[in-house]
Amino acid sequence: MGFITITGLKIFAHHGVLEEEKRNGQDFYVNAKLYYDMEKATKTDEVTDAVHYGEVCQFMTGFLQENTYKLLERAVAETMKAVLIAFPMLEGIDMELCKPHAPIPLPFENVSVTGSLRWHKAYLAIGSNMGEKEKYLEDAVQTLRKDTDFRAVRTSSWMVTEPYGGVEQDDFLNGAMEVQTLLAPHALLDRLHEIEARAGRERLVHWGPRTLDLDIIFYDEEMINETDLIVPHMDMANRRFVLQPLCELAPAYLHPILNKTVKQMLDELAE
Ligand code: ADP
Ligand code: MG
Repeated sequence: MGFITITGLKIFAHHGVLEEEKRNGQDFYVNAKLYYDMEKATKTDEVTDAVHYGEVCQFMTGFLQENTYKLLERAVAETMKAVLIAFPMLEGIDMELCKPHAPIPLPFENVSVTGSLRWHKAYLAIGSNMGEKEKYLEDAVQTLRKDTDFRAVRTSSWMVTEPYGGVEQDDFLNGAMEVQTLLAPHALLDRLHEIEARAGRERLVHWGPRTLDLDIIFYDEEMINETDLIVPHMDMANRRFVLQPLCELAPAYLHPILNKTVKQMLDELAE
């Protein structure tokens, strides 16, 4: 991985809270770092194997001129997302948006907002044990494929499993997914809950029947231990219905706490 640096890209645009800023416009300056895997470009010396920084500059200029935001924060967030989607070779971006003529009635040099956005790799467990189970799973996959915060969605095969946790209920259809996402862990959890809710999921009985269950298994190599989110998923090492489909997608993925691969965990469960 390496990065391209852009400094002082000047863009005349109309962002700001005040009416006169929206009317008159002013000069903004962009500093950005564009992260991508340059190995191929270093070998081939071909422009097509590199991120075209000229095109990125054109794109950011166009984007910040066609859209108007009150806040620099929002302008930065939206621009970063648009750049990452428009240039698929990019894995991440840091961006500073400077507003040296901001309406501050004091002598000052510059004011800026800096953000950072990357594609993260996440593994999800998906399951259903009510109604048209396969349709619930397929619909959830389609929803993620259409969502611009996700890309490179891969799925395992679906497997029928007996219910877990001691509640009397119908068999499950389970699977795993690999996704790249722009969402931070909690935002990802919220998005998954929205998809569950749209599938008519009601949280009645813990471990009880559900139209759709979407859990985060891994998020990069992150370890999260909060009341509403534990990653890697707390009980994954004991759940064949998680490990078996996951093993189709990522047998060598290393559990950052147990320090075991998915394949190892599955083999140990079989014993
Ligand atoms: P389960 O998935 O264990 O059958 P639920 O789907 O009802 O149960 O989830 C209960 C809560 O578990 C969620 O509201 C969520 O806040 C929490 N949770 C903690 N860690 C995770 C995770 N890695 N993935 C999904 N939910 C999680
Ligand atoms: Mg769940």
